Formats: sequence, C-alpha cells, structure tokens
Amino acid sequence: METLQHWAGGAALKSTGDRLGDVTDPATGQVTRQVAFATEADVEAVIAAARDAFPLWRDTSLTKRTQILFRFRELLNARADELAAIITSEHGKVLSDAAGEVARGQEVVEFACGMPHLLKGSATENASTGIDVSSIRQPLGVVGIISPFNFPAMVPMWFFPIAIAAGNTVVLKPSEKVPSAALWLAELWREAGLPDGVFNVLHGDKVAVDGLLTHPDVKSVSFVGSTPIARYVYETGTAHGKRVQALGGAKNHAVVLPDADLDLAADQAINAGFGSAGERCMAISAVVAVGSCGDALVEKIAERARGLRTGDGRRGCDMGPLVTAAARDRVSGYVDAGEAAGASLVVDGRGVSPDAEGEGFFVGPTLFDHVTTDMSIYTDEIFGPVLSVVRVDTYDEAVALINANPYGNGTAIFTNDGGAARRFQNEVEVGMIGINVPVPVPMAYYSFGGWKNSLFGDTHAHGTEGVHFFTRGKVVTTRWIDPARRGESGELDLGFPRNS
Ligand code: NAD
Repeated sequence: METLQHWAGGAALKSTGDRLGDVTDPATGQVTRQVAFATEADVEAVIAAARDAFPLWRDTSLTKRTQILFRFRELLNARADELAAIITSEHGKVLSDAAGEVARGQEVVEFACGMPHLLKGSATENASTGIDVSSIRQPLGVVGIISPFNFPAMVPMWFFPIAIAAGNTVVLKPSEKVPSAALWLAELWREAGLPDGVFNVLHGDKVAVDGLLTHPDVKSVSFVGSTPIARYVYETGTAHGKRVQALGGAKNHAVVLPDADLDLAADQAINAGFGSAGERCMAISAVVAVGSCGDALVEKIAERARGLRTGDGRRGCDMGPLVTAAARDRVSGYVDAGEAAGASLVVDGRGVSPDAEGEGFFVGPTLFDHVTTDMSIYTDEIFGPVLSVVRVDTYDEAVALINANPYGNGTAIFTNDGGAARRFQNEVEVGMIGINVPVPVPMAYYSFGGWKNSLFGDTHAHGTEGVHFFTRGKVVTTRWIDPARRGESGELDLGFPRNS
C-alpha cells in the first residue's frame, strides 16, 4: 500500500520514523493508503527547506512571483476535476461540492494575483522640512498552516496563495485524514515554476503541530480546526513569539421570521444543514423558528430531507458519508442523546440505506423539532447531518439565544422585512451574517472569520486582513541633502526631534 511522505525542497521527503496513519475512502470504508507522521527530525528538515528558500523568494520581483501565481491559477483551473476527485475520495463530500471547494480556493489565488497592488505602501513628501516618510510591507519568513479535514484544499488556499505572493515560504500541515490534496497542490506549484522549498508539506499529528508552534524559524501560524485545539494553538504559538490566527469551531443558527419566504428558508436550511453531510464550519445546525412559522417550516424541511439521496459522492448523490467510522458513531450517538432528552425526531438518519458499495460511514439527514437549549444536540458542535429546530416566540429571544452561544462563526436570518434584517445585522454577535443567504462564506477579497470561540487572534483569513497577517510594516524616514545646500547642516540640538 502506498505511503504518503512529506514534501520538502521540491521533492518527497521520507520520514525518519515509522508512525503511520490510515487514510480511508469514507464511502466504502476501505483503507486506501497510509500517511507518514512526522518525527521531530522530520519537522526540522521540512522547516529547514522553507527557511533556506526564503532569502531568494523574498527578493524575487513581484512581477515574477505574480507570474508564477498566474500559472498556478491556470493549471488549477484546467485540472480542478482531478483535485475534486481526490477530495471526494478521502473526505467523502459529493463531487459537485468538492468542485465548489476548489473554486472557492481558486478565488483566493486570483485575489493573490493582485499582490503588486495589495503590497503598495504609501509615501509622504516633506513630512518635515526636507524629510520624506514612506511605509512598506515585507514578508515574515517561514509561515505555518495547519488545516482541518473538512476542506482539504480550500482552507489551505485561504492562506498559502497570499503568503507565497507576499514573499513568504510555507509549511502546510494538512489533516492526517485527508493528506493527498496537499501533495497534489505541491506538485502543481512545481509545475507552475515555484522555486523548490517555497511550498512544503509536513504530515502528521501533534508532533508536527507542536514543532510548528515552537520552532524559532516559524514566524506565524494559521490554524483552522476545532475550538479546543485552536485555543491551544493560539496560546502555545503566541507564547513562542509567533503571530497566530486560529479559527475554531462553530454552532450556527438560522433565524426564520414569520414573514419569511418559508420555501426559500426550507431549501436553504437543507443546503446549509446537510451539504457536505454537515461537516462545514458554516453549516447551519440550529434553525430558530420565530412565532407562528414553526409547524409549516418543519413540515417543509422534513419533506425535503426525506427526498435527499445519501451515498457515494461519485454517484450523483445529494449527500455523502461522514469522514470516519468514529465520526459516524459520534453523530449517531448525538441522535440517540437527542431522542433520549425528549426532542421530537422528525427524520431519523440512523440506519439509512446509502447508494454505495462496502461499509461506508453514513448517517442520513436527521431533523429534530422542539429542541431546547439544555440538550447536547443544541449545545455541542455535532459536525454531522443533524438539524435542530428550536422554537421561540419573539425576534428578541432569537437574538438572545445566538448572543448567549459561546461560538460566533456564522448566522443567517430569513425575512422579507428589511428593517428587521438591518437590526439583526447590527445586534447579533457573530462574525459572518447572511440575510436570506444561509452559508455566508465571504468572497476572497473580504476576510473570513468568526467571533468569540470561533476565532483566537484578531486577524481573519484572506482579503486585506490576510495580506496584513502575512506581512510586517516598516516605516522609513529619509533626508537627502539638496546638492546645492551641502555643508549647511543644522545646529546641534539634543532635544527630542520636533517636526518643522
Ligand atoms: P481538529 O481540531 O481535530 O484538527 C485540526 C488540525 O489540528 C489537524 O491538522 C489535526 O491534525 C490537528 N490536531 C488534531 N488534534 C491535535 C492535537 N491534540 N494537538 C495538536 N494538533 C492537533 O479539527 P478537524 O476535526 O480536522 O476539523 C473540524 C473542526 O474544524 C470543526 O470544529 C470545524 O468547525 C472547524 N473548522 C472551522 C473553520 C473556521 O473557519 N472557523 C473552518 C473549517 C473547519
């Protein structure tokens, strides 16, 4: 069986250890390959490759850097299907969803192609007499990216196109559950002409993560994953003097007001609740039905959920499997717990008959009604195809519910009342808001990130915040003596310099 190795300095780097992880095809349950887990020596070697490549890459002109990015964009565009197939084979999401993930990642590459404009500094003539001031932004050096299993390509692409275009060198630590996409992207960079060592891949678990968090040559860490690990990454990385942005978990609510178009709301609850089998940080997992709309809304969602076809993502199904057997068992455990706690189980996805060969990790779409805030199906991030309907009497109760939640990644409101939507946008304590839009993933030129336990650090991903994260500002104050006035220097003055 194939064993995937690290990628450093433009080639595969065999691990010095023998710890391996299994990679499974979630639709069939079969182990398809293995991945090497980094030792401390591997961490050292991969970071060294990135460190050695930095001086040359930093000094490569913006024109040349951008040309390579353009080539990478063109290759990615032409071969997107290959990458989507890899994502489906290791994550399980349906092919169309995987293709959508690649397209959203590609948008960040396109954004990063504008780096010459984004890196422009400013200049002021005669800030003081004969003194000019300018500002520039410079790359950090080696930057670490640690990504989760649920977006094997898009999440790394939130970061590395901008990091690379800005002149940094990258060590990507992908999720050990979905390691192949990162290696495919590494090969693509090579084909695009990126110098060896600018993009590197380090496989593994906590050893690899801790190596990136503590190594003095790593200047920043961009992490995406669950909240407990995000908090750990933020605290450890900053304690070691690094710049850290750590995006965590989520529990996203969609509020449906009685005046909403209930068919639109039901369609979108299905898309956002069951897309990628609920394994999205922007999935809607709680629908908050306000006032009189509850019964009709639940009926519409249930009807649609029952019509979804669950199965192998390569067979044109609507919804694929969970990523691992453990994830499947965890999700069905939550369904058991919701039932035991007294929520009404309207659609039960346990025991679904999937359209797939073998022993895949399936749970079908599941819908609970009359969920209360003390139930684990409400309090916990399930990360599976389980949608909970919570009923409240008023808009104020709905907003209070969201604002009391420890997460603040995304939320949505469905209404035809512009005033209510505007008030929601103003009052709700969440980083990304959708108005009649369920999965409000911002465009590449805006920045992505939540509030509260959904993000540690103050910089969101991509957009101008991403450019800021991957560069350091420098201000230069300059005096050049006019040739006609040489020799007329000012008097000695030991006071603090005042502008004149
Ligand atoms: P995870 O936290 O288990 O893993 C994320 C990364 O951390 C992986 O690379 C993994 O190898 C590493 N890791 C795991 N355990 C570790 C440990 N003990 N010490 C150090 N590193 C460790 O997350 P996941 O299960 O891969 O992904 C799902 C989670 O990611 C969900 O909570 C989801 O909401 C979140 N997520 C958030 C966003 C966002 O933008 N906020 C986006 C995607 C996913």
